[in-house]
Amino acid sequence: TSFGFKTVPEDAKESLVKDVFDSVASKYDLMNDATSFGVHRLWKDAFVSSLRPGRKGPMRCIDVAGGTGDIALRILDHARETYADRETSVEVVDINGQMLKEGFRRFKKTMYHNTPQISFHEANAQDLPSSQFKDNTYDLYTIAFGIRNCTSIPAVLKEAHRVLKPGGTFACLEFSRVNNPLLSTIYDQYSFTVIPLLGTVLTGDRESYQYLVESIRKFPPQPEFANMIREAGFSTGPDVDGGAWSDMWGGIACVHKGVKV
Ligand code: SAM
Repeated sequence: TSFGFKTVPEDAKESLVKDVFDSVASKYDLMNDATSFGVHRLWKDAFVSSLRPGRKGPMRCIDVAGGTGDIALRILDHARETYADRETSVEVVDINGQMLKEGFRRFKKTMYHNTPQISFHEANAQDLPSSQFKDNTYDLYTIAFGIRNCTSIPAVLKEAHRVLKPGGTFACLEFSRVNNPLLSTIYDQYSFTVIPLLGTVLTGDRESYQYLVESIRKFPPQPEFANMIREAGFSTGPDVDGGAWSDMWGGIACVHKGVKV
């Protein structure tokens, strides 16, 4: 493949992804800051603000591939700070117990610890156990920097559609396609040299970070992903706040949304 990376066979992908995040869990937040110069925080802030959690009253949210709880914390803070809402709740779901453990540890220091507002669950986004994650349950489904790691995007979207209430919102923040050629060249250079190097220096784990960079390049471009969202039964039309997608930083990251019809 391009850039000299080995291609990962699809059936090996799930266990590889688990290993990748196992090996980086405790350094994950640090690496996020280092590789993006803290910009991931701004993207996450903008993502959550655009969802306006709490505006129409308390919401039941599920944050899938939620890792250490970055999105969950922002949802709860936004609802509380902007709408004085202490009833909105987030269920954080991740395939990796180590990431969830870091998240749990982190929430211990917050006012949400030991309240019904937050909970952590180990499960696969592609196959949420239906006894635990029932049909038509959530007002908001979020997935940030997680869907590209999943073997089957359609399977994730199908599950998102199943667990959302009719009228509920699917919202995805993900690295995407940079359309400006100059920005794209700079970004490629940076991704394939600086990020694996930072991975080596900060975590001693170059391969995990190479994999993360490679997975970004394989993810479908904006219009293609929007089509997949529609095919799963979501509306991405004018009723969707902010449109089918909106680029951040020229498409380095992008927010896709859909409403369950
Ligand atoms: N959403 C968090 C954030 O924005 O900081 C974490 C993002 S992290 C890059 C990706 C997460 O996806 C990891 O915690 C990983 O364990 C999780 N993940 C990967 N494949 C998954 C799957 N099939 N089901 C659930 N979670 C998955």
